[in-house]
Amino acid sequence: MTSQSNVLYIDLGRKSFYIKDRTELFNKWLGGIGVALQLYKEEAVKSANPLDSGNVIVLAIGPITSFYPLASKVVAVFKSPLTGNYGESHAGGRSATAIRSAGYGAIVIKGVSDRPIYLVISEKGVQFRDAATIWGMRSTFTVGRVLREASPEAGLRTIIRIGRAGENLVRYACVVSETYRHFGRMGLGAVFGSKKLKALIIYGKSSIRMPKIKIYRDTYDEVYKLAVKSDLMKKYHELGTSMNVSPINALGALPTRNLSEGKFDWAEQISGENLAAKKLGRRVACSHCPVACIHLATIREPYPDEPYFYKTTFISYDYELLYSLGSMLGISDINGLLKLIDEVEVLGLDAISTGVVLAWATEAYKKGMVKLNDLLVDLDWGKAEAYREAVNFIVDQPNEFYKTLAMGVDYASKIYGGQEFALSFGGNEMPGYHTGPAAYIGYLIGSRHSHLDAAGYSIDQKMKNLSPQEMVDKLIEEESWRQILSSLVVCYFARGIYEPRIVKKTLSTLGYELDDEKLKELGKRIYEEKQALKASQGFKPDELRVPERIFEVPTFHGLIDKNYIKIALDYYSQIFNTIIKKNSILS
Ligand code: SF4
Repeated sequence: MTSQSNVLYIDLGRKSFYIKDRTELFNKWLGGIGVALQLYKEEAVKSANPLDSGNVIVLAIGPITSFYPLASKVVAVFKSPLTGNYGESHAGGRSATAIRSAGYGAIVIKGVSDRPIYLVISEKGVQFRDAATIWGMRSTFTVGRVLREASPEAGLRTIIRIGRAGENLVRYACVVSETYRHFGRMGLGAVFGSKKLKALIIYGKSSIRMPKIKIYRDTYDEVYKLAVKSDLMKKYHELGTSMNVSPINALGALPTRNLSEGKFDWAEQISGENLAAKKLGRRVACSHCPVACIHLATIREPYPDEPYFYKTTFISYDYELLYSLGSMLGISDINGLLKLIDEVEVLGLDAISTGVVLAWATEAYKKGMVKLNDLLVDLDWGKAEAYREAVNFIVDQPNEFYKTLAMGVDYASKIYGGQEFALSFGGNEMPGYHTGPAAYIGYLIGSRHSHLDAAGYSIDQKMKNLSPQEMVDKLIEEESWRQILSSLVVCYFARGIYEPRIVKKTLSTLGYELDDEKLKELGKRIYEEKQALKASQGFKPDELRVPERIFEVPTFHGLIDKNYIKIALDYYSQIFNTIIKKNSILS
């Protein structure tokens, strides 16, 4: 039997660790993001560069992890090398249940190793193992295979690793969990790389006492039925998020060829429906998820010199990938697109950032700001093979141009020009929703500068005629509630299930009694803590850059009004400053 509140502290420099019971922290902040934020504040060196030893990685799970379906994610907090500011990323696979089974509520990773290593983490603590033979390996798949064979506990363990993009400090390198899930955004892979940390293998068999077994069973059944028998999750199982390609395109909201348009003529080709009909090989799921939204396409290719011998590759696809590496680059050829997705996965890059960066590079090249000598390959819309080459150049960085591109689109456009069509917000490359003002205000003011902070794209589709101030209030209200979901660390796709009634019920079976008011207060407090942390890391709302391009392409609301965005940002700035003032008085 183990405590849910154990925190494992690891020092990579000293190759040491210790475990501490932090019940007081978990009681106050629930778990997940609430706890991870506090641990980050306690352990990180305030002024540390994201790639310095003073940056810290915190991984945390929530109170209902392993107890309830779809509480299948781990939240990571770190300083982002892409934005230079607050970094947060979520991933599933087996990571959440493995951390729980190993007996921890959170893991803190500090310092820098003097040589490439990977960690094996269990109830017994941490083994520091030499990673020289897997450092530099071409494919994240191969790294996974090698580590699978070298470690025990098949079926229980998680294998979290970086690819060569992380080793080479590409600022938008991701961390791969199992094979098809990622800590995708904000460059956690580069932080692993800077610490010479190739991988984590986590496993265990510890158990936790269940206080209210009868009520637990009933509540579990209720959540399970909502997941598999209601319409709430059906679409995720059937087509996955790739179901969004056609409707988003029909709205004129699918960014195409670096958002020179909101409609892609070949959207039907890359739609979820077409992929399912022609390429779907199977679906897989994160641990303790009965939905299985992860869709894997298959490509079957003959070996060149061996008749009747075929190589079958499974490639995971979803909406964001079909947008960023598909419509954004004008690619309609499914095989070409899937191979490009596969290359990005092999190298361990964030697909959204990679697509946006390459889209900017293509436009800059066409406009003469970047030369063929810089690009080394003749990039053009739709040329999947050329983009595959360019993706390798981003990782290998053979010249100044690719070194710059590896820093992200914001940085590259400051050096080469074309900021007006460099589609990043707060330093983070844009997700695939040109739906209207709420989406963009959401990217700008969200803590992670991501569509996941507050789903502005959904507000655009559901609400009309909000004033800029009402819009900002709405986004902050949603982001505050999501802090509760991120403290439980449930999959955001299940947010329709984990509404306040279910959240209270599940928590109650585990001994946490929180009413609506308390949940709301806690969500708001965590939101404010994030804003305060951003401020302490130098974030200033007045310095947010808005790319001109978003005002040039009509949305289904018409052209976005610049003044509307400006008023919204001014209003958010006031809120931000009030939070900072309140926080400095309290601290
Ligand atoms: S719905 Fe998809 S992403 Fe979410 S937990 Fe299930 S398999 Fe993982």
